[in-house]
Amino acid sequence: MNHRSMKLLSLLLLERATAFAWTGISLRKPSTGTNSFSKISSLAATSTGSSINATTATPTTPFSPLNPILQQVQPSKTVEIFSLVKDMEAAGETVTSLCVGEPDFLPPKAVLEAATQAIVDGDTRYTAVTGTLALRKAIAADLQRRKGVTYQPTEIVVGNGAKQCVYQGILATCGEGDKVLVPAPYWPSYPEMVKVVGAEPVVVETTSNNGYLITPEDLRRTLQENPDIKLIILCNPSNPTGGVYHLEQLKAIAEVLKNFPNVLVLADEIYERLVYDGECPAFASLLFDRTLTVNGFSKAYAMTGLRLGYVAAPQPLAKAITTIQSQLTSCAGSISQAAGVAALTQVSDAELDQNIEIMREKRDYVLGELSKMPGVSVAMPPNGAFYVLPDVSSYFDGDDAQLCLELLKSKKLAIVPGSSFGAPGTVRLSYATSMEELGTAMSKLREFLEEQKDSP
Ligand code: PMP
Repeated sequence: MNHRSMKLLSLLLLERATAFAWTGISLRKPSTGTNSFSKISSLAATSTGSSINATTATPTTPFSPLNPILQQVQPSKTVEIFSLVKDMEAAGETVTSLCVGEPDFLPPKAVLEAATQAIVDGDTRYTAVTGTLALRKAIAADLQRRKGVTYQPTEIVVGNGAKQCVYQGILATCGEGDKVLVPAPYWPSYPEMVKVVGAEPVVVETTSNNGYLITPEDLRRTLQENPDIKLIILCNPSNPTGGVYHLEQLKAIAEVLKNFPNVLVLADEIYERLVYDGECPAFASLLFDRTLTVNGFSKAYAMTGLRLGYVAAPQPLAKAITTIQSQLTSCAGSISQAAGVAALTQVSDAELDQNIEIMREKRDYVLGELSKMPGVSVAMPPNGAFYVLPDVSSYFDGDDAQLCLELLKSKKLAIVPGSSFGAPGTVRLSYATSMEELGTAMSKLREFLEEQKDSP
């Protein structure tokens, strides 16, 4: 290596070191053309053989040690705000938080006992990648009993929460060049996960008139216009709108899909036990061969910290997901899986239904309070899950993120901007907290909004 190329290499390495030092603070713009990394590689290649070409070695873009995909992927706003709340609490501040989708009650007693017993019994080893047979059998029996869908235990993959199962489902089916249809408002992780796997989200707006559900017409038109759509994500009941697709609506969607035989459906049914009026059928009962059913234990059983979810899908899909999971995480926690068996085999429907009644009361209270606030409207009362998405666009010129930030600063009330759910001008409130906390939250929000109206 000659003197000139040595100098260039040192410059590049210096640049690399500087980029590393700054990555914790800011990401770099996407590089166009040859990046510094490939230049370093080409320099390394030339160091072993031919002489260096000074033109190609000139650094044109800064080196970034990060995967370029991160230029497109947003962090979870809910998790970001939740972390901020935790920091504020650690600093001694009292924050009222309606930002995260977490029931305030404890898991059922049988679940806690099973988890404790699993520890006592030393049930602390790796399980099969797909989960223990006992848990997969219990899941299959539950889906059969309540949803009328027949899955074999070999068609079920248990993971560390439904979030991971959604991701693995997308990763197992989609990659570069594929598109994924995501109805908006959406759970923010969907489009970001789609981008992480290199696919492209196709967002389809829904309206409150249609219960924030995708219409068969919009579905057909979008599929016709986008032949690369490989997967549709249906969140039923929906986070953040609380919209619920009932049987007739799902049948109409399945009917459209008959004309698009290569399109799969990821049915995220994690809130299916939390429906106020009517039923929430499994999409798999209508189009089994093309459906990936995702569900979990975080919401119905309040087992958020136990990180337990599953995906149920026909054998080839389940197998692909198993391959991915075997390389990513090996298996879900053994203690959590023992707790999951207890949840499905020892907790009665009646016990779980009590939670629906408690949630209904909270929902009605929050809707009543919001209806008294000036400039706030709820286009559609939620019929499932435990979120409400009021329109607050008359404040802060519709900048919902600004509203949430000011609210957190001045009133110590944490809620999430609707723009991160594809619903700008709204905010998302989770009412799965105690009545007392909800009362405080509603007073803080009312006071805050009144102050905004009063300020010149
Ligand atoms: N899907 C939806 C729609 C959700 O709202 C959530 C949690 N907020 C999840 C999946 C993930 O749940 P978990 O990973 O806790 O099972």
